[in-house]
Amino acid sequence: MSDIKQIDSQYVANTYKRFPVEIVSGVGSLVCDDTGKEYVDMGSGIAVTSFGIADEEWVSAVTAQLGRVQHMSNLYYTEPCARLAQMLCERTGMKKVFFSNSGAEANECAIKVARKYAAEKKGADCYTILTLENSFHGRTLTTLAATGQEHYHELFQPLTPGFVHAKANDLPGLIACAEANNVAAIMMEMVQGEGGVIALDPAFVRGVCDYASAHDILVIVDEVQTGNGRTGALYAYMHYGITPDVVTTAKGIGGGLPLGACLLGEKTESVLGYGDHGSTFGGNPVCCAGALSILSRLDDAFLAGVREKSAYLMDVFSGAEGIESVSGMGLMIGLKTTKPAAEVLARCMECGVLCLTAKDKIRLLPALNIPMELLQRAAHVILDACK
Ligand SMILES: *Cc1c(COP(=O)(O)O)cnc(C)c1O
Repeated sequence: MSDIKQIDSQYVANTYKRFPVEIVSGVGSLVCDDTGKEYVDMGSGIAVTSFGIADEEWVSAVTAQLGRVQHMSNLYYTEPCARLAQMLCERTGMKKVFFSNSGAEANECAIKVARKYAAEKKGADCYTILTLENSFHGRTLTTLAATGQEHYHELFQPLTPGFVHAKANDLPGLIACAEANNVAAIMMEMVQGEGGVIALDPAFVRGVCDYASAHDILVIVDEVQTGNGRTGALYAYMHYGITPDVVTTAKGIGGGLPLGACLLGEKTESVLGYGDHGSTFGGNPVCCAGALSILSRLDDAFLAGVREKSAYLMDVFSGAEGIESVSGMGLMIGLKTTKPAAEVLARCMECGVLCLTAKDKIRLLPALNIPMELLQRAAHVILDACK
């Protein structure tokens, strides 16, 4: 074992089962390990490095801001934070943004907004948030409570109270659950990522939104993974023709720097007042400068390119030997393989392709700007590994 692997195993908390690979450099969608072996990166740091490693435009935007002001407290104005909030609102129709540093924190903000909104409009008893079974909303005690997967809960009781879970794609079941629990908000991922790359049924999503709006229940869409171009739309909810009350995002927005955002719509823009919420690092100018560089390039032509690459992957994998089904949207793809996913992943790694898994599936989240020839190279390795 190399020095770094040994030191890491000794001193870093054992929360991650690392693969025996140390990544030392990269450019775009190619990364290199400490032995000089090259890999096509089909995971992009779990949908984080939207334009790959060390993208030139992103690096120059980030380093310019780094040399100017690396941090100021939120007691003062800084330009990247203001401009990013403006860009997010102009491109989504949302009204205001609260910046955090991660997806879980973006969801914490959404949950606080929902609780305050409902308490003021409907009374102190209305605080429960309904989420879907098989969802994933983060690792804090509150976002774990929101996460509809029991196995994440077991060791950490008691979690924050006030969460119930309903089955995805079962509208009558969800409505019954909402009525039984005096629900303040409904939170969902348009494509369940950690849950196995499963897109929600459009009729279900629209039905949920119609029911929620008729009862003044807030709709929170968790776009931490699906957002920022990942599904071939700027935000995945845009494929569904809905207008959420709150949208949360993180992962890919900063292009590799920690940034989360909670976008507030017409109903929710004024819920939080002075002192109701805050974050020391939230809206950091370097992270926001990185995000501006990413978001400003996610235009219609670019998103059409994401959809084209998606169509290519869906097409090569559909019906291929050893692949039982293909799921997902855009460059967020799940493969149900005949062989165990861990075995396929290991084989791909040997052959120079880094993949992810989600539940029992192979999960692919390449950089949005991955060149077609690298995508083809990776696809052929994956196809071979599945056989
Ligand atoms: C990754 C993820 C989160 C948590 O984000 P962190 O930045 O790890 O806190 C929340 N929701 C969804 C849908 C995610 O994919």
